[in-house]
Amino acid sequence: MKTAGYALGALLGFAGLIFLIAAGQGNVAPRVIIGIVLLGGAAYMIYLARSKGPEVKVTHKVDFTGDTELQELRCKSCGAQLSSDAIEMREGAIYVKCPYCGSAYQLEEKPKW
Ligand SMILES: [Zn+2]
Repeated sequence: MKTAGYALGALLGFAGLIFLIAAGQGNVAPRVIIGIVLLGGAAYMIYLARSKGPEVKVTHKVDFTGDTELQELRCKSCGAQLSSDAIEMREGAIYVKCPYCGSAYQLEEKPKW
């Protein structure tokens, strides 16, 4: 898609230049207008190809590791700070298994992050 955008942009730019050159041979006004429109289209195509457009991969980071806000999460039984290892996602719910006191429970409330 990206290369197609560049190719189309190059094609439009080339056609635009031809019209501008042809304008020198007479019938100036319409040829200049068409040439400028084509060059504008070429610039737009190249701009679209350069910009990421709708094909951008949307990466949802559901990964708990490296989440700094997770440091706020503490075991509700013993108050120990829980690492990402203590947290498990199951059926959309967050389960906590405390490695210190061994208590396991589901987080009913949304954590503070
Ligand atoms: Zn605990």
